[in-house]
Amino acid sequence: MSERSVQKICYMVNNAMVVIVIALGAFFKMLGVDFLVYFSIEALAFWIVMYPVIYKRKLSSYLWSAYIWLTFYMGVTTICLGSEYGFHLYCFSMILVAYTSEYISYKLGTPRVRPLYVSIGITLFYLMFMGYLSANGPVYDTGGRYASFFWMFNSLLVFSYLVIYTNFLIRSIIGSEEKLKEMAHTDSLTGLYNRHFMLEKLTGFFEGDEQGTLAMADIDGFKQINDTYGHNAGDEVLRTVSERMKAACEGCDIARWGGEEFMILSHSEHDEAITMYEQMRVSIESEPVVFEGKAINVTITIGISPRQSGISIDEWTRQVDGKLYEGKNSGKNRLVV
Ligand code: GH3
Ligand code: MG
Ligand code: MG
Repeated sequence: MSERSVQKICYMVNNAMVVIVIALGAFFKMLGVDFLVYFSIEALAFWIVMYPVIYKRKLSSYLWSAYIWLTFYMGVTTICLGSEYGFHLYCFSMILVAYTSEYISYKLGTPRVRPLYVSIGITLFYLMFMGYLSANGPVYDTGGRYASFFWMFNSLLVFSYLVIYTNFLIRSIIGSEEKLKEMAHTDSLTGLYNRHFMLEKLTGFFEGDEQGTLAMADIDGFKQINDTYGHNAGDEVLRTVSERMKAACEGCDIARWGGEEFMILSHSEHDEAITMYEQMRVSIESEPVVFEGKAINVTITIGISPRQSGISIDEWTRQVDGKLYEGKNSGKNRLVV
């Protein structure tokens, strides 16, 4: 969120406040509560004075002043008319507003709002004016005219705000957590799992007794590809190889284990897995990777091993690494079972 968009929101809030204060002033006049009519004129003057503050982008001063004034206005209205008009309910939404402001300041990098202290302040203020009211009753006896309309209108507004805001908040928390989880689990270049998450997957797999075949794959002569075509071309090769691996092995857990090394866990029977890994190797070899108009031939070597009883994750990964090493020493571009 930029400063400009906060400024826009401030203008919108201020416009709304001007309209609300004029409407409330007319209503107070109808009720014959003179003090609140004068108070509304002062309130109108306050909101008008706020326009140049917003214009000069003193947004933090604006928000603090508006916040304090609104809370004060709410308290005074309640003391004058009594709680049956429902103006005191806005105290609840003011607490959420404090936390929203904290979030906005965090986004803008401006000083913290300290919503906890603000909320305690609002609670004390609420106790004070509601306490005064229960001890002395409202200053004006309006006979409860229009009270049910206002009580319902104010309740609906406050409750809608609470529901909409809380819903938005929880949705965005879940969304952010999902995004962070994905970022923590995946390699940003290839979109495959990262090594850390693959180890978690293997640990989970070891807790069950499912069959599976593990493979370690490594791009052949990758350093040469980087040296010949450049690092960006190397990155494109990594991305394309990853895509082809995913296409060849749907349902497999595939991770970028290191630079140009991949760890793959197939959940199918060993014979089926051998066929699938061979197809994967062929799919990479059969079509060059095209980068900036240049065709780059790419091959991979794969070492595979089925799950054996009593074997640890460490031993299993060392086994496939050993087979990959065999494949590299015996000419590359092959599958070693
Ligand atoms: P071999 O056939 O024996 O596997 O040899 P190789 O050249 O593939 O292996 P080597 O270990 O000699 O080189 C790996 C290279 O991979 C070195 C490193 O700079 C490069 N590399 C590692 N990570 C990345 C990356 O994210 N992008 C690019 N472009 N290159 C990377
Ligand atoms: Mg290599
Ligand atoms: Mg390597």
